[in-house]
Amino acid sequence: MNDYYATLGVARDASEADIKKAYRKLARELHPDVAGAESADRFKEVAAAYEVLGNSDKRAQYDRGVDPRGARGGQQGGAQGFGFEDIFEQFFGGGGSPFGQQQRGPASRTQRGGDTLVQATLSLKEAVFGVSREVQVDLADVCGTCSGSCCAPGTQPQQCAQCHGQGVVQRMARSLLGNVMTTSPCPACGGYGTTIPSPCPDCSGQGRTHSRHTVKVDIPAGVETGTRIRLAGRGDAGVAGGQKGDLYVEIREKRDEVFERRGDDLHCTLEVPMTAAALGATMTVDTFDGDQAVEVRPGTHAGSTVKLKGLGVGRLQRSGRGDLHVHLDVQTPTDLTDEQAELLRQLATARGEEMPEANLAPVGGGVFHRLRDAFKGR
Ligand SMILES: [Zn+2]
Ligand SMILES: [Zn+2]
Repeated sequence: MNDYYATLGVARDASEADIKKAYRKLARELHPDVAGAESADRFKEVAAAYEVLGNSDKRAQYDRGVDPRGARGGQQGGAQGFGFEDIFEQFFGGGGSPFGQQQRGPASRTQRGGDTLVQATLSLKEAVFGVSREVQVDLADVCGTCSGSCCAPGTQPQQCAQCHGQGVVQRMARSLLGNVMTTSPCPACGGYGTTIPSPCPDCSGQGRTHSRHTVKVDIPAGVETGTRIRLAGRGDAGVAGGQKGDLYVEIREKRDEVFERRGDDLHCTLEVPMTAAALGATMTVDTFDGDQAVEVRPGTHAGSTVKLKGLGVGRLQRSGRGDLHVHLDVQTPTDLTDEQAELLRQLATARGEEMPEANLAPVGGGVFHRLRDAFKGR
């Protein structure tokens, strides 16, 4: 996630006023009219940071670890993205010119397409191994009728009659210092310098149409709820030849009924009959990797764990897998027949346990601690 605080050079607990101040200062220094085209990217970063931190709702969201700009859900947000117009609005909004910088020529209609967010729900097994998925998403495409020009076939944009193609209009305003010439975007053409007399009928002059797309996504092993996979250039088409936005696929991992994930490790609980715990046994466990043998050693205590190395979750962006921890839950029989109870009494007699001695386990030993340690970090 972008560090917007660092971009603006403010502390995480900076006040609204400080953030605004820092933004204005940077914007003034970096505005392309002042610093030239080289600073345009940096200028956009600063504007993006302010878009989030300058808004208390978005800032709160960001502080919780979600970038409100990271990707925009659905069509509405995705349709436009954060483009030139937002910056334009901040500098020229209301016709003012807060920094003495003014639009000098017609604005470009070209805009980058918006980013789009879709969700994909995976089973735990799919998250363990990775999976190839098809997701359905509504995306903007370049209009086939006008090829994105926004004009009806056979027509062209016309120079704006009001600003004569300049994109700006000037007017004289009175101030304490005398008459001042101010420049503001032309209201007739929105600052573009051209108007579109015959908008394309198929896209209503937007240059884009929307349709449902099926997108194949290769989801790597190790993703978890909240992981976002970025498909660069697979989002909305840009406006008037602008580049495409990105498509983000956000993962939701379903709970599994048997296996629980903690990081790259998996945990499960295996019920072991009391007799098997005492005598030892080899038990077969149905894992995501098929049947696996679990060795229950003679004299196994409740709460013991058997680790099956490398049968956990695939590590995201690294090689290898975590481990599968099988927690052994020794089952005390509750349905003894008379005959079985008699056998157990004989065993108790043979072991001199008819009147069991009450031994308290030392601190650090005993099942209470083993269980606690086994579930630490849950
Ligand atoms: Zn069109
Ligand atoms: Zn105009």
